[in-house]
Amino acid sequence: MIDISSYDYLRQSASERKPDVAEIRKHFPILERQIEGKPMVYLDNTATSQAPMEVVREIERIYTHSRANVHRGVHTLSQEMTSFQEESRERVREFINADSIEEIVFTRGATESINLVANSFGSFLKEGDEIILTVMEHHANIVPWQLLRDRAGIVIKVVDINSRGELDIENFKSLFTEKTRLASFCHVSNVLGSINPVKEMTSFARSRGVVTLIDGAQAAPHLKIDVKDLDCDFYVFSAHKMYGPSGVGVLYGRKSLLEKMPPWQGGGEMISIVTFPHTTFADLPFKFEAGTPDYIGIAAFSKALEFINDIGLPEIEKHEMTLCRMAEEGLRKIPGIKIYGESPEKGPVISFLLEGAHPYDLGMLLDKQGVEVRTGHHCAMPLMERLGIPGTVRASFAIYNNEEDVARFISATQRAVAILS
Ligand code: PMP
Repeated sequence: MIDISSYDYLRQSASERKPDVAEIRKHFPILERQIEGKPMVYLDNTATSQAPMEVVREIERIYTHSRANVHRGVHTLSQEMTSFQEESRERVREFINADSIEEIVFTRGATESINLVANSFGSFLKEGDEIILTVMEHHANIVPWQLLRDRAGIVIKVVDINSRGELDIENFKSLFTEKTRLASFCHVSNVLGSINPVKEMTSFARSRGVVTLIDGAQAAPHLKIDVKDLDCDFYVFSAHKMYGPSGVGVLYGRKSLLEKMPPWQGGGEMISIVTFPHTTFADLPFKFEAGTPDYIGIAAFSKALEFINDIGLPEIEKHEMTLCRMAEEGLRKIPGIKIYGESPEKGPVISFLLEGAHPYDLGMLLDKQGVEVRTGHHCAMPLMERLGIPGTVRASFAIYNNEEDVARFISATQRAVAILS
């Protein structure tokens, strides 16, 4: 049985500035799974990372001792559960260096956070108003704006990329007009891995009086996020990509903006007084949290943040990028393999293809060897169209991956390529 009674092993490794990956792996029993009779190599962390036992045990502990609805009752269980949820909100605030917990709205995920902004902030936009997206966005940062376009008649402009898969910053700047109201872009691409120059982008937008939303779904698990330093208006991410539970996400919003924005969904918890003629709304952040939230998931998310903090984001990033660069080097030696996304500034994601082969075939042959990678368009169909490809195979790394995973991934790819060539 794994001893999860303390984080000592993490603290010790953090002080040595090198995470003890063998120890960390012990906290993720799922990594001991066999796939097709072979030890599993999990390289689909961009889609969802695995959760450590600290998170799993917290969920179990709450289900067995403290489950009760939040903000609803004077009874002990409800008060206890409310304090767990609100402590988690404070942890999230600290994690991204927001000014106040009023700026931290819990949602179901990055997708819901963006939909909230598109519906609520979006209600301020009028026909002819323009917003700027980029061609590398996930569908979660495209479709909510298209729905708004169809409702309100706004215009969507799209920033292009260069041949290395980096955002074309001059193109970004050139799209601003006096009608631009919002720019919404990812911090890190979930396909190319490119880290966008988000500070330069928010600062340019601010100089034009334009509101910014950063989709941090692929950044928050790997990079230190400081929303004050980024000077963005909104920042969104999902817990399940950060060693946390599924069904929990965060919308950071600048308080002065959130205060002006109307509620998106109505129901319990988001109100102050309800009468049939008129309803007044709760203070921030509850105005945006209608109904019963995933309070157990939210509470357990704080254990995931503790896990990340105790290792240290710089150490996590360094470890993951070392593996990612090793894997890229290995892939480049395999004839016929092409990597998409060659930015020197990237997150731990590799998208690649074998010339003449469909990504699904490569993905299936890797799965047969126990290697779990993602294949397809990765919810970025406009990017695939821009690249002129149907999809890619994508390998992505987390803190628990090790050099053996990279070696198994490369040899499995070599074998798959030999079969397909
Ligand atoms: N944005 C990006 C860049 C993503 O990678 C993802 C998830 N793949 C999302 C948004 C949506 O996240 P979720 O499905 O957790 O809402």
